[in-house]
Amino acid sequence: MKDNPVNSTINFAKDGIQHGFLKVPYSSNKSAWGSVMIPITQLKNGNGPTALLTGANHGDEYEGPIALFNLTSRDNIDDIQGRIIVIPAMNYPAFLSGDRVSPIDKVNLNRIFPGRPDGTVTEIIADYFSRTLVPMADYVLDIHSGGKTLDCLPFAASHVLNDKKQERACELAAKAFGAPYLLKMLELDSGGMYDSQVESMGKIFVTTELGGGGTASPETIEIAKQGVINFLIHAKILTGVIKPFLSPTVSLSMPDERSFICCEHKGLVEPFFELSDVVKEGDLLAKVHNIDRTATIPENYYAKRNGMVIIKHYPSIINIGDNLVVIAKIE
Ligand SMILES: [Zn+2]
Repeated sequence: MKDNPVNSTINFAKDGIQHGFLKVPYSSNKSAWGSVMIPITQLKNGNGPTALLTGANHGDEYEGPIALFNLTSRDNIDDIQGRIIVIPAMNYPAFLSGDRVSPIDKVNLNRIFPGRPDGTVTEIIADYFSRTLVPMADYVLDIHSGGKTLDCLPFAASHVLNDKKQERACELAAKAFGAPYLLKMLELDSGGMYDSQVESMGKIFVTTELGGGGTASPETIEIAKQGVINFLIHAKILTGVIKPFLSPTVSLSMPDERSFICCEHKGLVEPFFELSDVVKEGDLLAKVHNIDRTATIPENYYAKRNGMVIIKHYPSIINIGDNLVVIAKIE
């Protein structure tokens, strides 16, 4: 396969603290021989495991970038054994524009893995992760939130995997992150995800959803900051004691597709629930009002399983095909 054209301005083999860029060639009307400059920091002290930490895989999710830009200001590596590679904004063009997907090629980074070295900017970024960064890592943490269209309970998550030893290792790392909720996650659309790519390479992988609505709160930021520290202690890269944000953590799972309520109408959402509400199968979740005319009968949406509301559509106007709510089973 063709070499990836991304150039790193830092030396991954070198000890110490380095700040630099991943330079992704991008020739445009604004810059003939230009590059997308993705900020990167490496903290390395001797031999040990490598952790790869990322935020803004989707550009409108902010807890990850805030926690990770903070981490890059660390001026001491005495309590580190091994290597921490920090990329606060993985899909940097999307992050700069405050959008989920890249404005350059309209591609969702988390749906095009493993990527292509001769593809669009987003595909090139994915390929660089698949063939250069992830192979260096033992532990991979990708911090997501709901973005502008979803709001989520703060949870760390792992997936069901064929390799049960790896599945268990991922679950323990997600638990160590210490978010108030711990989820065994079912993906409806796992093809092309960074998650699947990293897991297929045998790495210990944790993902999160820590809030949403296209913003971040002091509480969700604190969960992200402490979660990063906890994850690094769990990986035995950082010394210290793991501190969960709340104790005990609530364990949740998504055994099947009944967790997802897809909206089949466009309209105005009148919700009957909040995040963290416990619902029963058949409970009214929301009415969706027709906004094309007055005096119509709203469409009712009901829970398809007993459980806890963990994710909801954030804007009050919804479209056909949007995810209205996700209900997880309480373990
Ligand atoms: Zn995301």
